[in-house]
Amino acid sequence: ASGQNPKLVAGNWKMNGTRSFLDMVAELRVGAAGGIADTDLLVCPPATLLAAVATALEGSSIGAGGQDCHAKESGAFTGDVSAEMIADCGATHVIVGHSERRQYHGEDDAAVAAKMQAAHRAGLVAIACVGETQDQREAGKALDVVRKQVAALLDDSVTGANTCIAYEPVWAIGTGLTPTVADVAEMHTAIRETIAATIGADEAAQVRLLYGGSVKPANARELMAATDVDGALVGGASLVAADFLAIARAC
Ligand code: PGA
Repeated sequence: ASGQNPKLVAGNWKMNGTRSFLDMVAELRVGAAGGIADTDLLVCPPATLLAAVATALEGSSIGAGGQDCHAKESGAFTGDVSAEMIADCGATHVIVGHSERRQYHGEDDAAVAAKMQAAHRAGLVAIACVGETQDQREAGKALDVVRKQVAALLDDSVTGANTCIAYEPVWAIGTGLTPTVADVAEMHTAIRETIAATIGADEAAQVRLLYGGSVKPANARELMAATDVDGALVGGASLVAADFLAIARAC
């Protein structure tokens, strides 16, 4: 059985989307109004579209979020976007520490922790991503790796209201591969225990734990029903309105 938290389905568009995607946002708005009552929906477009998407979703039940933020509030950081700027767009959430940021931008656990603090400083909910590589899983180290990543993010400012953790095995992202439901449940339970060790079991129970990595309409129902899974972080399937809505309904 799943936990007590309302589910959150977040779409990570990655580096996809031009203004024509606002038509899809309008479709999502209509689809969500047609009845996805118990699941919260979030769209995370590229920074160039964030303000337009947030405006297009105003007054709907769907939120908007950023995909990354700088740790500082402002300054001489060409090309970067601060958490405050993301909030100023009308967004409520920001993803931090996605494996693509860790891999292509050299972000380590300390950098991700600083970004999470920045999100909280700006009043945003941080969706912090963790996950093992294929080599680490094959070596039997997945639980240890992820526990360490989670522990590095935590301090006593983390609450169920300001933080979500997304478990995204690197080998499952964009590959069509997923862990077994039992593996997902085992990992999510380990993540919740790790959080509880810092902020206590009552608060940790309210931190939404998302699974991400090749979530599709066809596998969403069983993944979302796994123990301690409170939602999904969806990449590829979030680029098609019908698929994203089908995943939300499967919760
Ligand atoms: P995917 O991506 O759904 O395309 O596997 C998930 C993610 O990277 O957040």
